[in-house]
Amino acid sequence: PRVDNPFVGGKGYVNPEWSAKAAAEPGGTRVSNQPTAVWLDRIAAIEGTANSQSNGPMGLEDHLDAAVAQGATYAQFVIYNLPGRDCSALASNGELKANELSRYKAEYIDPIAAIQGLPKFRGLRIINVIEVDSLPNLVTNTNLAACAEMKSNGAYVDGIAYALNKLGALSNVYNYVDAAHHGWIGWDSNSGPTAELMYSTVVKSGSVNNVAGFITNTANYSALSEPYVKITDTVNGTSVRQAKWFDWNMYADELTFAQAFRNQLIGKGFPSSIGMLIDTSRNGWGGSARPTGPGPTTSVDAYVNGGRIDRRIHAGNWCNQSGAGLGERPTAAPASGIDAYVWIKPPGESDGSSSEIPNSDGKGFDRMCDPTYTGNDRNGNSMTGALANAPISGAWFSAQFRELMANAYPPL
Ligand code: BGC
Repeated sequence: PRVDNPFVGGKGYVNPEWSAKAAAEPGGTRVSNQPTAVWLDRIAAIEGTANSQSNGPMGLEDHLDAAVAQGATYAQFVIYNLPGRDCSALASNGELKANELSRYKAEYIDPIAAIQGLPKFRGLRIINVIEVDSLPNLVTNTNLAACAEMKSNGAYVDGIAYALNKLGALSNVYNYVDAAHHGWIGWDSNSGPTAELMYSTVVKSGSVNNVAGFITNTANYSALSEPYVKITDTVNGTSVRQAKWFDWNMYADELTFAQAFRNQLIGKGFPSSIGMLIDTSRNGWGGSARPTGPGPTTSVDAYVNGGRIDRRIHAGNWCNQSGAGLGERPTAAPASGIDAYVWIKPPGESDGSSSEIPNSDGKGFDRMCDPTYTGNDRNGNSMTGALANAPISGAWFSAQFRELMANAYPPL
């Protein structure tokens, strides 16, 4: 039988492959013992691959064996290989074409379920983060042809329902479905339909009990808490929601969003036992540029821009953000409704290449990773704020890892 919060009273699995890369950086041993997720980002990752830039030779069973050997109580994986993956961007396009749902089921989910279900792993709590960005893309990005196709062919919804059904049948497995972040679905017009789609998709899997909860901010940079700007603040009678940075968003940060979105999900029909996770691997925003108090009250924009700790140019920027730092260290039950702060995106792994790099990993070049690009309607036609000289998504990006350590908050 499942426990209410699988993170409580436990010890997370430290992925030796990530840990070795982190430890090899100057000062890296300060963080290399943290639990991070293993991304099963292609079929070959199930057995382990020697020639991909993101995974190493350890496969799923090797990782689970190592978790048992470490005496870990939980191990974290990302299920990330939907057909037509990453439909609104190019940096993490995957190997399966839009019409390859049957391969997703037979060659990807079935073998994962078989390994996670081995009797020798029954004492371990297995955490699965399910398909980052996919359902939110069906809500907000169907103006893009690739997302419209994934909505009309049903493969995201069917694939996730299938994954939840198979993995949810294992009593030591805890599935958390990805729910983007406040800078994406923090408007009521987006969060309501997203919650509805989450509910109908999970119901389609056969049972609401196939999920333990949801995760926000996976691989993103949205601040956990904005200490100097509350969304209810006003400046000379004007709501800060009118500031350009917020653009009428209902939330200023991830913690308030995750807690409110959980309530919305419960309102749609999920049991109140669901818990939220927040990926805090890269949302620390420390270092010398971090504000130490509220901004001036000369205008809503001056107030918000002067006080916000999230230093991005625009909240829609997502690739290798300049100035970011490691966030809260993984913590169980840190706040009401939150099962844990987790490090799902392994810090130091790139979000995408800053210029085109030919590769055999199926990764495209997305200009949101190019520091010279002037943006599109999803980032308010702003500069991207991406670091230069980045390798393809998933590959080790030493300069980024060093900056993340330097700007960690809490500091290391
Ligand atoms: C990449 C994956 C990688 C993951 C974690 C994703 O953006 O597409 O290949 O495993 O990030 O770094």
